[in-house]
Amino acid sequence: MSIIHLTDLHTHYDETVYEGHRRETLLTQQKNGVCAIVNSGSDVPSSQRSVALAAEYDFVWASVGVFPLSAYTVPEGWLAEIESLAKQPRVVAIGEIGLDYRLPDTDAEKQKAVFHPQLQLARRLGLPVVIHDCLADEDVLQALRDCPVPAMIHRFFSGLKYGRQFVEMGVSLGIGPAITYPDAGELIALVKEMPIELLLLETDCPFLPTQRYEGKPATSDMLDEVVEIIARTRGDITPQEVAEVAKQNAERFLSVQF
Ligand SMILES: [Zn+2]
Repeated sequence: MSIIHLTDLHTHYDETVYEGHRRETLLTQQKNGVCAIVNSGSDVPSSQRSVALAAEYDFVWASVGVFPLSAYTVPEGWLAEIESLAKQPRVVAIGEIGLDYRLPDTDAEKQKAVFHPQLQLARRLGLPVVIHDCLADEDVLQALRDCPVPAMIHRFFSGLKYGRQFVEMGVSLGIGPAITYPDAGELIALVKEMPIELLLLETDCPFLPTQRYEGKPATSDMLDEVVEIIARTRGDITPQEVAEVAKQNAERFLSVQF
């Protein structure tokens, strides 16, 4: 039996890889049991595209923000632009925003100068944040202590130690296709023990397909395999129940009804 009520809290359907078949791809997701998709900006133009996509489809919502790898090249007036986009209809979160320390030429201070004001903006507007955290757990935790706001760590893959610290703070974790790969041991251990009310589903599509589709662009319907693994891991819940709980979590986190 196929799964319904899947919710994909972090996607990039505005990416060029979907050019020419975007509409068909999105409508196929809906047909395959996906009831809600949040399209995420990572800079000003992709945030504008996210708002436009959400205006076009009644099952698509938007999050807007500048992510750390775009922090070095923000245009003048970027924060005002993100604020005005955040006030558009169907914008449900600020994101993706965060810190990414994976590259050798990382300038953490420049990234923080873009991340922190967006946390404050979210707090001021009463919106949750979707956080991109790559090898920057300590600084992300500190930023959330300094500016507490409902948060989700998207594409969570930081291991048990930080996973426990985030859930202790009540931060939601975006769980997706990463769980289908052989190196997901710690992620699976975390999914087994974490409070299920902090679990959100996401694909980060097109960037992270499930292992069986490796090399292809991801789509939201790949979450059916993700909920199956979560159900098997927890042992006390069916795949459909995982989808239902994640949907309720998402509605609570984003303050919307799907
Ligand atoms: Zn993303």
